[in-house]
Amino acid sequence: MSKQNLFCKAMSNALSFRIPGESNSLTFNPCCLYDHYIPFHPTLYKKHREIFINSDKEFLPGCSKCELKEKTHGTSHRQFMNRDIPHGIGSDIHKLELVLDTTCNAACIQCGTYQSSLWRNEVANRDKNYQHIQPETQIDSKIDLIQSSVDFSTVKEFHFWGGEPFLTDTHLKFLNRIEDPSDVVIRYTTNGSIFPDENVLKLWEKFKEVKIGISADGIDDRFYYIRWPLKWDKVSRNIIHFRDDTPPNVEYHVNCCAIPLNALYLLELVEWLDVNFSTHTHGLHKGKKINCNFIRGEGTLDIACTPMSLREEIWKTLGEHHPISNVLRELPVKDPHYMLHHLSVWDPVRKLNWRETFPDIVRHFE
Ligand code: SF4
Repeated sequence: MSKQNLFCKAMSNALSFRIPGESNSLTFNPCCLYDHYIPFHPTLYKKHREIFINSDKEFLPGCSKCELKEKTHGTSHRQFMNRDIPHGIGSDIHKLELVLDTTCNAACIQCGTYQSSLWRNEVANRDKNYQHIQPETQIDSKIDLIQSSVDFSTVKEFHFWGGEPFLTDTHLKFLNRIEDPSDVVIRYTTNGSIFPDENVLKLWEKFKEVKIGISADGIDDRFYYIRWPLKWDKVSRNIIHFRDDTPPNVEYHVNCCAIPLNALYLLELVEWLDVNFSTHTHGLHKGKKINCNFIRGEGTLDIACTPMSLREEIWKTLGEHHPISNVLRELPVKDPHYMLHHLSVWDPVRKLNWRETFPDIVRHFE
């Protein structure tokens, strides 16, 4: 058993495997927040695992998101991993993140072809030169490849992302390979559009714990704009369904991604959660109140594209010490030109208009 990295246990005890959409290549790194994905090959895998295990003094260049989170007084993924991964397990893999299947029924405005099959289809419908493959046809062989390098018997936490993980049976292909589910936690990041069927709920009962992270970045029309073509009435019904109709070992929270469009409106979602999950109206669900976990939008709709005048309004609305206020204080302002171009291309296709859906921010972009 080789050593454990005590600076960041994710580096020695976690792995994230991903097949980026548009490719059929398996890639890996220590965690979903790490900036770079490395093509999977047994020799490269061995070499990089050594690097990760032995980088125990400071952040690696790929750890910029944890570094920013800690600088802005938030709790970083590194700190959560160091809390959750046990001491004294050497370099055994404790946590496995799986982003193999990007089949998705949403084309969220901050996402793209690398993570959503609907985005790939949307782009292909409009650009006849766009070449893409749907990598999902190769998943079984990739799961075998992962299992040939990782001993599943030491893995105590599996985290499924997508795409939308409840749209396909990819998660079940892993769950069915787990020998002792009673010792294993499973996590999902879902867009909330699909409530799992009876067979999945029955299977979940065998696991130690099931943690569901539901992605929502607003309510009503603002939800629809960002999570197109998903509708808030359906997703909000499912959130309530998760509250009321899942086995007692299921916990859930909402992941809210802050982008320049919704940052000023984040409290609308928080208020909705307060009403629907308040201890006064519904009592605690299995001992836990639902939490909103704020994450930063990057890529085309990077939160850094928020102009300074809008940042000042956000600070007033959310408060000086809100996690997103902290992030906006740290990030240099980025030119929003490319973001606005992206919106102007996709709004007519979707029969939407960001200026009408987010009217209070328009003047900051003129
Ligand atoms: S990004 Fe964070 S959690 Fe991931 S390896 Fe780097 S420090 Fe650890």
